Amino acid sequence: MLIQSDYHIHASFYRIRPEGAEAGPTAAQQQTAARAVGCHYVGIIEHCNTSPKHPFSCLEALSEEYYSDGFDRQDTYLGVEADLQDDGSDACGEEGRKQLRLHYIIGSVHLSPAIITTLDEYLRVEYHRIRNALTHNRNVDCIGHPFGEGIRYERAGIIPRWGYDLIPDEYLQEILKLAKEHHVALEINRCDLQNEAYRRFWEAVRDNHILFEIGSDAHTTGKCPAVVERTQWADSLGLQEEYHWKPL
Ligand SMILES: [Zn+2]
Ligand SMILES: [Zn+2]
Repeated sequence: MLIQSDYHIHASFYRIRPEGAEAGPTAAQQQTAARAVGCHYVGIIEHCNTSPKHPFSCLEALSEEYYSDGFDRQDTYLGVEADLQDDGSDACGEEGRKQLRLHYIIGSVHLSPAIITTLDEYLRVEYHRIRNALTHNRNVDCIGHPFGEGIRYERAGIIPRWGYDLIPDEYLQEILKLAKEHHVALEINRCDLQNEAYRRFWEAVRDNHILFEIGSDAHTTGKCPAVVERTQWADSLGLQEEYHWKPL
């Protein structure tokens, strides 16, 4: 049985919001919500990228909450979700990691049809960023939602249906190989649990003893339960706790 854990929970209190907009949850509020749905290990993060919504000072404020006297750090870790660049570097870097006293970094690719118009080009760019991060960047512990933006191309009407079967198999095989070689965890997130190719990908993670973690990607307390179904699904596939990534 997997120990239900969620390492992808946004404390979205720590971002710049438009005047009058409701504040997002703090680290303490997200921790309470995650524990309430049964998470044993909890990982609190926020975005680290060049968006004006996410200045580095917001992450400093998050780190301050985490390391404050009143915060219960039992089985709770601090990370960031850092955008990956084309060369595989991440927006946080080793300096940022040290400065924020992070336990881990999730490296993610955030793209959309507004930035890259075709699915093929999107898949190619995401693949290269992940491949370069896995090969060259030892600052990244986990790859967040691999190819998780594909669904946006369906929603935008660019493709009739999104699924892992649309990803060139050589991309998936190379990512599996590099994740294993460099001990980087792959993240179960934005799932298409009914998709056959998606299931096969995670069965390969299972069979090759590749590290994985499971994230709700909750930006509000109400989204924290998403990890429950994903963990049950991973359990039903036979993914083993031994390879369930944990921050050191
Ligand atoms: Zn993300
Ligand atoms: Zn996220």
